[in-house]
Amino acid sequence: MNKIELEACPECDLLLNPGKPEIGEKAHCPRCGYLLQRPRKQSIERTFALSVTGIVLIFPANLLPLVGIKVLGNKQDGTLWSGVAALFKEDMWAVAVLVFLSSILFPLLNILLSLLVSAHLYFDRPNSHLARWMRWLQHMDEWAMLEVYTLGIIVACVKLASMAELRFGLGLYAFVALLLVTGMLSSNLDDYLFWQRIAQLRNKVSDET
Ligand SMILES: [Zn+2]
Repeated sequence: MNKIELEACPECDLLLNPGKPEIGEKAHCPRCGYLLQRPRKQSIERTFALSVTGIVLIFPANLLPLVGIKVLGNKQDGTLWSGVAALFKEDMWAVAVLVFLSSILFPLLNILLSLLVSAHLYFDRPNSHLARWMRWLQHMDEWAMLEVYTLGIIVACVKLASMAELRFGLGLYAFVALLLVTGMLSSNLDDYLFWQRIAQLRNKVSDET
């Protein structure tokens, strides 16, 4: 008799016989509706390539000016960091912290973790921290909210446009590209496949020792 390997639903612990959905299909838990599998094409390769792109984009997005404004002949360039600093100076520290976390720290951690995990899987390198990084990555995904900040930038630009001359900086283009990359990262991430490969790498290590 074939041994059937059952898996528990991470959300409600219902024991399930894991199927093999095709790419583009989704497998949900029949009891609680939790998304169990969502296979993606070349998920590891694409996650690796996208996170390398993301690392490259983080520098211009953080360091180059997002917008330049000209009021009464005075020119001023605003970067992500000077925006956070300005909010702090205006005593809007709660907003400043939120902007810093959602537009600088979390995207950075998200991309670094994606790179760490996918690079190890891509190059078949076992690492005892892989499972922990993967768990963090899954939480990060819920916290990186570049979209929120982007919306803020758009609102600010629309308001400023009536009072001052606006010029979009290179940093803004890098920021928008970064936004696309992080969006593609989270939609390309095949959690089920990643966890499977992490388990395989772990077994490989314990077989060798
Ligand atoms: Zn369930």
